[in-house]
Amino acid sequence: MSAPEPAPTHSSVTVRDSMTTSLPPATDNRPDTAADLLLPVPDDDGAPFWDYAARGELRVQTCSDCDEPRFPPRPCCPHCQSFAAHWQRMSGRGRIWSYVVPHPPLLPAYAAQAPYNAIIVELAEAPRIRLVGNLVATPDGALNSVDPARLRIGAPVKVAFHTLPGGVTVPRWLLERP
Ligand SMILES: [Zn+2]
Repeated sequence: MSAPEPAPTHSSVTVRDSMTTSLPPATDNRPDTAADLLLPVPDDDGAPFWDYAARGELRVQTCSDCDEPRFPPRPCCPHCQSFAAHWQRMSGRGRIWSYVVPHPPLLPAYAAQAPYNAIIVELAEAPRIRLVGNLVATPDGALNSVDPARLRIGAPVKVAFHTLPGGVTVPRWLLERP
């Protein structure tokens, strides 16, 4: 996996200033404001998902009795009520099931990168499991590194991993055919 990007040199004050003066152009790909993006807050059930992501692995909680994957993580299988579970490794391939292209008003760190995208990915091995993420040009690319005009329902994607400035590694998505 690619190395984490260096710590940003711009403080959050810079971001707030950009809101009161002028926003950078939408084509600005600098990830300087990434420190102000919202971070995942792992809970006990979901912690393994993030631990595996930090190792560059996409894994989905799966029932050890009926073998059905489930998401979001939770203690009990909704299909057979078993509490036995393991974390099944996925290939990291899937398709865009849906997407949105956010525009301001947004939180400042997001407004600075809008319009960008948020996609829902249907996993190849577990089509009923759909993960929310961002389609990017490279694993460490900015949220707006893919032209929104390129978004297509059904487009094949593959997972990549990006470590945020706070240290949390998140799955992101790249087009199979860039
Ligand atoms: Zn089950």
